[in-house]
Amino acid sequence: MAKLKNCFLGGLTGSIGQNTCSVLAYLYENHNKAASLEKVNRYRLVGFSVKSRVADVIAILQKLLAGDGEKESFLALKTVAVSDAAAREKLKAFFKTVQCLKKVVVYERTELALADSEADVFINALSGSSGLEPTICALTCNMRILLANKESLVMGGSLIKTLLAKRGETIDEVILPIDSEHKAIQTLSHGWRRDQVAKLILTASGGPFWENELADPTPEQALAHPNWNMGAKISIDSATMMNKALEIIEAHVLFSLPYKQISAIIHKEQVVHAFLELTNGECLALLGANDMRYAIQGSLTYPELMKGTYKPFNLTDHANLTFQAIPKGRYPLFELACVCGEKGGAWPILVNAANEACVEAFLARSITFNQISTYVAATLERYEKKNVLHTELTSLAAIMELHNDVKRALRRHIAAL
Ligand code: NDP
Ligand code: MG
Repeated sequence: MAKLKNCFLGGLTGSIGQNTCSVLAYLYENHNKAASLEKVNRYRLVGFSVKSRVADVIAILQKLLAGDGEKESFLALKTVAVSDAAAREKLKAFFKTVQCLKKVVVYERTELALADSEADVFINALSGSSGLEPTICALTCNMRILLANKESLVMGGSLIKTLLAKRGETIDEVILPIDSEHKAIQTLSHGWRRDQVAKLILTASGGPFWENELADPTPEQALAHPNWNMGAKISIDSATMMNKALEIIEAHVLFSLPYKQISAIIHKEQVVHAFLELTNGECLALLGANDMRYAIQGSLTYPELMKGTYKPFNLTDHANLTFQAIPKGRYPLFELACVCGEKGGAWPILVNAANEACVEAFLARSITFNQISTYVAATLERYEKKNVLHTELTSLAAIMELHNDVKRALRRHIAAL
């Protein structure tokens, strides 16, 4: 019989959160279709967190509860977190009206709900820096982590590795990637020793302006990604290619390879998710449709595989695949952030915080698209002289202090423009 695990989903209402919810429901009902039944995990959802979109939460729960009468449901909520106060009260009021949800405890912070949920697995689909503290909490509670939130690794890579070392475990034993490129590398790496791997190559779409460069794109134009339907922060990061730099840092932390062995190329069709170059010069590629449910289900059933609800990949649908080097100077933020990754120390925290503040300002129409990289560059220059950036920050408090300082200073600066 399949093992039943309890999971907590950070970011239920997001793009990854909703896809995850549909995969959890599918696995709960169809685990008996797996080739090796006894090995494929089934999951019950014991908790979730969101920021404020409670109307969406209620709609999701009502849909899940509607199917509950006839068949068993994967919904077994114990704790949830809603960070916005008014939204939290609305959800509490809704829970009071539903018999099976009356005892659910509602917290403000994800970490509190997560720690109290007694989950075995934390699926981190939170956006931006809000993902780090829950990741650290899950590690200290000895949970397995399925990680979509790349910012956790960019901000807390050293801290996470230190905590894992204390547990006597390595990162690949505890953290499974959901990011499609990293999930592809994990699959491609099977059977190869680290010294047989020459290079990891991540693919990038080039964003919505790759073929049609706009002088001054609006938030709406920058949010329209050609291949994926994603949350606002990652969509803007894809348009600036900051997302690919964050992914290079994420790959460095996850796969413990030096930066000179990790790169990215433009592949606008996004059918190949990553390449693994071997030391004999051969190159392996992983191909799949642009559907995050591949990576989500793959991590939930890992190391087993199971047919999903998504459309199976068909090679003949993709006759023309193109690959191109990233043109120098075209994506200034990508270049800046890659340099910060290589410098190490606190530089990834700094560039991530500066970018997050600028993306928020761009979405609020306080700065233009091109000013995102200008303000990030100016922030890096201001901090250049501070020696503190060359040492690793290995406490959560120190990381969050630097992160919050940088964001506060940039917000003040932008507000005074
Ligand atoms: P979305 O913006 O769609 O969703 C973010 C989720 O996080 C929402 O549920 C949001 O709640 C919740 N949230 C945000 N802040 C908080 C907070 N402080 N406390 C509790 N919940 C919070 O993002 P995506 O799903 O697109 O991305 C999530 C992560 O996955 C990101 O790190 C992204 O880089 C990564 N990723 C995403 C991919 C994709 O295809 N979307 C692909 C690969 C990686 P609310 O709805 O209330 O705002
Ligand atoms: Mg990705």
